[in-house]
Amino acid sequence: MFDLAQRHDGDLVRLEVGEPDFDTPGHVIDAAASAARDGATHYTSNAGLPECRRAISDTLAGEYGVDHDPDEIVVTVGGMEALHLAVLATVSPGEELLVPGPTWPNYETQATLADGTFREVPMPAETGFALDADRVIDAMSDDTAAVVLTTPSNPTGRVFDPDECRAVVEAAAEYDAYVIADEVYLGLTYDGPAEGIAAYTGHPDHVLTVGSCSKAYAMTGWRLGWLAGDRDVIDEVVTIHESTTACASSVAQHAAIAALTGPQEPFEEMYRAFEERRDLVVDRVDAIDGLSCPRPEGAFYAFLDPGLDEPAVDVAKYLLREHGVVLAPGDGFGDTAPGRLRLSFANSVDRLEEGFDRIEAGLAEY
Ligand code: PLP
Repeated sequence: MFDLAQRHDGDLVRLEVGEPDFDTPGHVIDAAASAARDGATHYTSNAGLPECRRAISDTLAGEYGVDHDPDEIVVTVGGMEALHLAVLATVSPGEELLVPGPTWPNYETQATLADGTFREVPMPAETGFALDADRVIDAMSDDTAAVVLTTPSNPTGRVFDPDECRAVVEAAAEYDAYVIADEVYLGLTYDGPAEGIAAYTGHPDHVLTVGSCSKAYAMTGWRLGWLAGDRDVIDEVVTIHESTTACASSVAQHAAIAALTGPQEPFEEMYRAFEERRDLVVDRVDAIDGLSCPRPEGAFYAFLDPGLDEPAVDVAKYLLREHGVVLAPGDGFGDTAPGRLRLSFANSVDRLEEGFDRIEAGLAEY
């Protein structure tokens, strides 16, 4: 859809893109620029700058209740590399990576890169794709090496229930498997406390926490994330990291320190903007006949059910071509919900209103 949109002439409302529409706040850019001018232009240690790991450790504890010493943290090239390394460290050839569906597609590629097997476990549409621990646990076997829990979720915006997450972690621990907690959107949680999975389980040593500056700090292009977890796994990950990227960018690590420890007002403002847009999305979806979605409790996605018995890709192409609004078809997010359309509300209130006007007209006409 992104490529089709790039080739399209005329005014489009782009609601398919999964990144904040805000620029990185100035104080972060200034800190990175002055660090570079002061000579921070060299490799750092593989695990990352001690001050950066300290800042991440303090943020995890202070904001999300997740306790890890800096030496249980590795700074990575985005949450993406943290996930890749976590999968490589936990999934041996032939072993299984389980993921509740609908799911962000990169986990499947990452399982393949580890010579592992990817298995999507569909969550029920009737509960808006809430995490159903029993379904995940039923799918576990001695071959299960890791389970990814993405909360808040891309593509559904759901925040998983702590009891369900806890049950999955307990079962994983029994199989000597890991839960990879993909919490890159945790800073954008709207309806309740933003607590990390490792904070509320009795088996934090079986949880590997993935985080990132990308989403809540509007820093996608800096490529700065982290993996936190059991010391033995992190030591292994650091060894792999030496051969993949050596270290995250030194300049980006200084930017992350400024983002995590500096003034928080610019990020709070973005959070409030996302929350306001979320409310708008809920209202507009409610008001359109036949359209529905699970309540987006976090991230910036609404997973729309257009109520049509048609492949989502056809509907998405039609909406783009005839009505100038761009959404991501549900078949891009595994096999669980092929008829859905993911809407990203990382766009201004005016453009969202315009986008919903177009969706409303388009679905009525389809
Ligand atoms: N996890 C999920 C669910 C995502 O949607 C993304 C990015 O879109 C990432 C991880 C990786 O983000 P980054 O590598 O920018 O930190």
